[in-house]
Amino acid sequence: MRWSKALIPTHKEDPSDAETTSHKLMIRAGLMRKLTSGIYNYLPLGWRAIRKVEEIVREEMDRAGAQELHMPVVSPAELWKETGRWGILGGELWRVRDRHGRDFALGPTHEEVVTDIVRNEVRSYRELPLNLYQIQTKFRDEVRPRFGVVRAREFMMKDAYSFHRDDESLDETYRAMCDAYTRIFDRCSLTYRPVEAATGSIGGSHSHEFMVLSDTGESEVIVCDCGYAATDERAEGTVPAVGTDEEPADMETVDTPDMRTIEEVSEFLGVEPWRLVKTIIYEVDGRPVAVLVRGDREINEAKLSTALGADVVEAASPEVIAKVTGAPVGFAGPVGLEGVEIIADHTVEPLRNIVVGGNKADVHMRNVNPGRDFTASSFHDIVLINKGDGCPKCGRALSSFRGIEVSQAFKLGTKYSDSMKATFLDEDGVAKPFIMGCYGLGVTRTVAAVIEQHNDENGIAWPRAVAPFTVQVLAVNVRSDEVREVAERIYEELLERGVEVLYDDRNASPGTKFKDADLVGMPLRITVGERGLKKGIVEAKVRATGEQTEIPLDGAADAIERAIETLP
Ligand code: ATP
Ligand code: MG
Repeated sequence: MRWSKALIPTHKEDPSDAETTSHKLMIRAGLMRKLTSGIYNYLPLGWRAIRKVEEIVREEMDRAGAQELHMPVVSPAELWKETGRWGILGGELWRVRDRHGRDFALGPTHEEVVTDIVRNEVRSYRELPLNLYQIQTKFRDEVRPRFGVVRAREFMMKDAYSFHRDDESLDETYRAMCDAYTRIFDRCSLTYRPVEAATGSIGGSHSHEFMVLSDTGESEVIVCDCGYAATDERAEGTVPAVGTDEEPADMETVDTPDMRTIEEVSEFLGVEPWRLVKTIIYEVDGRPVAVLVRGDREINEAKLSTALGADVVEAASPEVIAKVTGAPVGFAGPVGLEGVEIIADHTVEPLRNIVVGGNKADVHMRNVNPGRDFTASSFHDIVLINKGDGCPKCGRALSSFRGIEVSQAFKLGTKYSDSMKATFLDEDGVAKPFIMGCYGLGVTRTVAAVIEQHNDENGIAWPRAVAPFTVQVLAVNVRSDEVREVAERIYEELLERGVEVLYDDRNASPGTKFKDADLVGMPLRITVGERGLKKGIVEAKVRATGEQTEIPLDGAADAIERAIETLP
């Protein structure tokens, strides 16, 4: 492609609304432009990189035995109602209505649609296992779209769904898909880690996420030297115990005017934060539940929802809190709380002489003792595990890193086939629900993750497999006939050899052209300039390493082709 004819709108300045390196560079290098919040136009360079990733994904999916198909973006509400997700997905599910007033969803994922295909078309165990995938535009009306295509409202995903007659078959495909992910992310030159993950609103028993290591990642991963690795939503561990050996003292009421936060109350009463047990009112599938957790810990809503077997767990509104506790937000407590279930984290049970809200404005209770002054109906592991807590496998102190989730695999079991009555006839003649797995990979998010890991202060440094073009030929001064002729010749010769070349033939200053070359970051730059030509050479520079070599004009295209083979 000739840059003079191409749409590659580069910018010197960072866009004001971009926080992460990949977002800034994707705008500055002219890969994409925002149309509206969380929705982007992919410009020619960006689209080429996306297609590179897409092709890698396609090759590895095909190699793993999955079959590509293509499902519609739009699907009828009735399908989503069969599984209950029309309600469960809430605001994230993008809903549209047709001229007849019928409701539809713009697909955020396709379990319902693919299960509908399979229940209609697959009858016998002989047709199993079956693994179907597509690469498609997805819609999620995210609460906080940010970081460019990392958390967008419209994005590209590869989604695969597998159907099995038994768990062994699911295990086999699950492993094959995780292996395919390993190959995909290796080929994209990413540094990543597969980790155990929570199953969330997709459901199922078992899940792994592939995390690309990045300080700007939204996910926190808890790891141990012994090999344990899980997302913070999923991680288990032992929380150091405190304050369990005291004699219970008499419960008393204390005035805490306008003090709602743990910091305010603990400072005012002169007690450590852990002693202040938080009572948080949740709405669990629509019914209020009071959840107790030590003041120095946070609730893990994924664990909470699993512990309660609930589909939707949401913090209650101030109105509901006032109704349940009779007090404004910040003063809820378990003592004398009636008409609402009380549950607590394991670490609350052995505590003595704790401080809780008094269910009245500006009042707390102190020297409260679980079991004596209130009863919780059950205790669960519902706190977020922090670094420093004990590893669930080996007991040593856990550490953590930040990552970008690029893909997730789930063992769904019969969650969707049960609710959608999708069955096959097994060998014994009995109709059984399909056992399912699903495997999502963010294609556009992966492109951003590649940039997040491959850049420097001058711009992107594409790894060869994902680069929009492999080589950039840069003619330093196109007004020189000799420079132009040599550059044109090399460009044409490389094209003939099937090399993907971006040819900067613009009549622009050398400064602009070199800056832009670094910014758009093709793996190999070939510079054709008058100084080199006098010596009978062109210059080759590897973007990632800065390594420079001189290439004799004679046989230049062959030498460049060989240089490409050694690129990172
Ligand atoms: P997240 O926790 O980041 O919201 P998720 O668990 O909702 O992700 P899945 O439903 O498993 O994601 O979707 C599969 C893949 O699609 C994710 O691993 C991610 O790469 C990509 N993805 C999900 N949401 C977005 C989004 N809003 N923008 C871009 N890519 C996304
Ligand atoms: Mg999500």
